[in-house]
Amino acid sequence: MDISSSIYGIAGIGYTFAKRLEKLEIFTVEDLINHYPFRYDDYSKNSQIAESKIGDTVTIKGEIWDIKNVYTRSGKVLTRATLNDGSGSIELVWFNQSWLTKSIKPGDTLQVSGKVNKFNYKTTISAPQWEKVIPEVNNSTLHTGRLAPVYPETYGLTSKWVRTKIANILPKVLPKIEDPLPDGIRAGLMGLRESLEKIHFPENYLDIEEAKKRLSFDELFYIQLATQKARSTWNQKKIIKPFSVNKDSFGSFISSLPFQLTQAQKKVVAEMVSDLQKPYPMNRLLQGDVGSGKTVVAAIAIYITHQNGLKSLLMTPTEILAFQHFDTLTRLLSPHGIGVGIYTGSKKQVDSEKESVIIGTHALLSDKLNTDDAGLVVVDEQQRFGVEQRGYLRNKVSVPHFLTMTATPIPRTVALTLYGDLDLSVIDELPKGRKPIHTHFIPENKRADSYQFMAKMVRQGEQIYIITPLIEESETQLSAKAAKTEYLRLQKDIFPDFRLGLLHGKMKSKDKEVVISDFRDKKIDILVSTSVVEVGMDIPNATIMAVEGAERFGLAQLHQLRGRVGRGENQSYAFLFAQEENPENISRLRNLETISDGLKLAELDLKIRGSGEIFGVRQSGRWNLKIASLSDIGLIEKTKSAASKILSEDLSLDKYPKLRRKLASIEAVQAMPD
Ligand code: ADP
Ligand code: MG
Repeated sequence: MDISSSIYGIAGIGYTFAKRLEKLEIFTVEDLINHYPFRYDDYSKNSQIAESKIGDTVTIKGEIWDIKNVYTRSGKVLTRATLNDGSGSIELVWFNQSWLTKSIKPGDTLQVSGKVNKFNYKTTISAPQWEKVIPEVNNSTLHTGRLAPVYPETYGLTSKWVRTKIANILPKVLPKIEDPLPDGIRAGLMGLRESLEKIHFPENYLDIEEAKKRLSFDELFYIQLATQKARSTWNQKKIIKPFSVNKDSFGSFISSLPFQLTQAQKKVVAEMVSDLQKPYPMNRLLQGDVGSGKTVVAAIAIYITHQNGLKSLLMTPTEILAFQHFDTLTRLLSPHGIGVGIYTGSKKQVDSEKESVIIGTHALLSDKLNTDDAGLVVVDEQQRFGVEQRGYLRNKVSVPHFLTMTATPIPRTVALTLYGDLDLSVIDELPKGRKPIHTHFIPENKRADSYQFMAKMVRQGEQIYIITPLIEESETQLSAKAAKTEYLRLQKDIFPDFRLGLLHGKMKSKDKEVVISDFRDKKIDILVSTSVVEVGMDIPNATIMAVEGAERFGLAQLHQLRGRVGRGENQSYAFLFAQEENPENISRLRNLETISDGLKLAELDLKIRGSGEIFGVRQSGRWNLKIASLSDIGLIEKTKSAASKILSEDLSLDKYPKLRRKLASIEAVQAMPD
């Protein structure tokens, strides 16, 4: 066995458990030992029964005097045991684990850990952690009498099980683990082997801290190494012919736009125009709040590409958005003789003779579409795509310029790490005249009032979105069904006089189109929808965004949702309802009442919910951090400069074979665009 061994075939892990491990994305021994605890139960205090008080967390070693199963009236099984340590006796109770009487027998020496409470008037430890102590076999305990690691669990995989397996496997593979960090960089950090041992089985809190520091360093350092290397490699690519930008025609295109560009848009356009004239391809990420006007920036890039005799591809995550861009770009570009085509699952309207830009969903990746003369690829709402799709489009087209756009605010620390291979442009200003959206958390007892308010607005001729709760990460039949149920309820019980529409991701795209155009044409007053409307919809007459189950969304994501309103003249509102009205959820949601800056909200998400949550549901694939925090700016800066120092001396890592091996193994998994 070594660290790359599959978990199938490891002694002590049967097929059933290997399957369960896979649910936690654990496929190899390495994945297993990199499955870190998310907290530790402090069972390190050894106590005497006589001195244990209610509320104490204790560890007690004693002899089992008695153990039996008791059946309650409701049919549940309690296993009750008496433990005596010489100073006194205490009750132990487990629930629904009748098999325990087979493995624990009177006379056994047990060490148990847990919290002392009263149960049926007796001093008891309920559901204690336990293990047998056989002095000649285990003089050090694993689950009790120590800082016991607690792991992210899944059905049928307890921390106790994971702990036992890791305790068993770790000592066997540790000696085979090499430390890829060069001496100069490693200085002052705990050794890799030691940190793996201590993260699982710390002797004290200092161990945890030092191990975390080392493992976090590694995690961020390898991301830095990979992204910085990708960037350097990208910059070594040669573009066939750098674009040229004709001042006059460019100027007349800009002045043909239906509005004046904002200062922020001008700055971003300047950055992009400079990229396009370089001898290597642009690789830029454009970030801007919903409604900040990213589409027109893309249109400008498409225009320049067209002037240089090449085509552009614009990929969107949904058909809704593709159709919308098709309309917008046709309006902006066709007066300049630029043909616009569309290529989605349901609609393929491409004439390669005439069209200079093709807009589509991931259908664009199809081999049937000839993309030979594409000079620019634009990916809108890039966070919605997987790495493979983005990478594939990039590779399908020979060395194009690349522009990705996102409304997801990217905190500085995140940009410095996860997006280190891209140049970042930010539109940090909304077009003039936008009124801030009045946002309110609506407690359940005010729901009726808010429906009344909505009715009033509809009577005034305004329109409303009602978003149904997020059920699963990606849209499923279940979400569709929930949306439909809510739609029927609202139509029947709440708004019988109004015209309601339903929109969800499982609808045929033809039907979606009809609903959207009906909403746009004011044939629908209230659009009940899953969060598919998050991207795309631009309907200025809609002034209320109501979100059900708002606590299930990240703040930045809710900010994006509310960005669907506030696009017209009238004052707009966002109403947030929670399914679970606890103080934590409420105070988190209330941030939206006072903060209107998407970036600030994203930073709050990062602080409150951690790295995994910042991109709404989950960041799709790029880097999943196991231990490092994306808010640790100090460590990020440190790893960044460590990586850049190494790469500036030795880009191919010839002098660091261990590092190179490590990086290759990471890149294989991450499928970094090169
Ligand atoms: P997003 O960044 O969310 O993709 P869009 O590109 O869809 O934003 O733009 C939102 C709306 O703002 C569109 O209706 C667009 O026409 C308008 N818009 C964009 N830039 C400006 C501007 N500089 N002045 C006024 N309106 C603008
Ligand atoms: Mg957009």
